[in-house]
Amino acid sequence: MYDFLIIGGGIIGMSTAMQLLDRYPDKRVLVLEKETSAAQHQTGHNSGVIHAGVYYTPGSLKARFCLEGNRNTKEFCQQNGIRYDECGKLLVATNELELERMKALWERTEANGLERYWLSAGELHEREPNITGIGGIFVPSSGIVNYREVTEAMARRFIEKGGEIRYATEVTGLRETATEVRAQTTQGEFQARYLISCSGLMADRVVRMLGLEPEFRICPFRGEYYLLPSKHNQIVNHLIYPIPDPSMPFLGVHLTRMIDGTVTVGPNAVLAWKREGYNKTDISLKDSLETLGYPGIRRVLYKNLKPGLVELKNSLFKSGYLKEVQKYCPSLTKADLTPYPAGVRAQAVSRDGKLVDDFLFVKTARTINVCNAPSPAATSALPIGRYIIAEATTQFDLV
Ligand SMILES: Cc1cc2nc3c(=O)[nH]c(=O)nc-3n(C[C@H](O)[C@H](O)[C@H](O)COP(=O)(O)OP(=O)(O)OC[C@H]3O[C@@H](n4cnc5c(N)ncnc54)[C@H](O)[C@@H]3O)c2cc1C
Repeated sequence: MYDFLIIGGGIIGMSTAMQLLDRYPDKRVLVLEKETSAAQHQTGHNSGVIHAGVYYTPGSLKARFCLEGNRNTKEFCQQNGIRYDECGKLLVATNELELERMKALWERTEANGLERYWLSAGELHEREPNITGIGGIFVPSSGIVNYREVTEAMARRFIEKGGEIRYATEVTGLRETATEVRAQTTQGEFQARYLISCSGLMADRVVRMLGLEPEFRICPFRGEYYLLPSKHNQIVNHLIYPIPDPSMPFLGVHLTRMIDGTVTVGPNAVLAWKREGYNKTDISLKDSLETLGYPGIRRVLYKNLKPGLVELKNSLFKSGYLKEVQKYCPSLTKADLTPYPAGVRAQAVSRDGKLVDDFLFVKTARTINVCNAPSPAATSALPIGRYIIAEATTQFDLV
């Protein structure tokens, strides 16, 4: 019998597992991961940005954990010999409307306690000769890293402390009783006193395995990227982001310097027809019916029909995608956009048709389930893990 089962070998599961043994070194902890190695889903298919915490509602868990996570991630990288680069980020306004929105973002960055600088068009040009804009905000603390490497280091530290990981072990059923939690898996049954689920794109399905009817569903949104040819590896000195429409802050492709020296463009956001479908043609009838069968998701799609169709058009036609990025980087051409693997975001949508904004946790007597951990959850993985352990300490009998 284990003390804890943790479902999911992404960055949230591994961060929680590692810190759980830091805090409770004598507990028996087992991570169950359905893939053959760590970080195979969202954690291994993202932009690799160590976010600073620009956009998030002041006082929200996202705002708090992102700020702390930015520092914690860099410290963790230093302690574990993982390369990262604090290259900073530039938010670029290309017209008067965006300049107005930039003022609101400036206020928000103040409320979120970030160091940042207001740049005129001239100062912007000085920092980024290939970027065109009428103004910008420079946030020096944003950085880049490979989150797969971070997660693998967390897994190693967890094992060194006596933790166990079973890969290729998919949890297919759960039963919570007054004294324990039993997990049926493709490799047999495991029992523990407590369970923590960090199952990303499958979060709602795991909650349903516990016999609960969650107040949300996971809506999978593909994020598609392009890679610039290596001749453009020096095209930008920082991460370049457009000023978002505040009602859809996650829309708007950015130019991202990757830690391997390359530069990507993206991601967009289009509905995925398969939860773990990384190719445009990946379709799962079961997943699609589940997505479209949920009234909340239908409402979100209906409310956002116009931007949704624009994203879809730009996904199908490179020229539309190119136009988005040419707004601030006019020298790029269609030939510069070469294929790059996509990612799929796990975004919780509530029954009444809202994208769940903040990180969300659902608890039962013996379980804690991470139910909404989209971006900036990779940046925030260390504080999220600490939060889960603090919740477990108050809620469970761990002495
Ligand atoms: C396109 C894209 C770009 C992003 N960019 C950034 C960024 O730049 N910076 C940032 O901070 N965040 C970013 N994010 C968000 C970040 O990647 C995620 O928030 C984070 O990786 C979530 O980690 P996780 O551990 O919750 O999920 P995951 O990494 O998806 O891990 C969940 C794990 O659970 C396992 N699992 C699920 N069900 C079961 C089961 N039944 N049995 C066993 N195992 C199971 C899965 O196999 C998976 O390994 C981005 C996300 C995407 C998709």
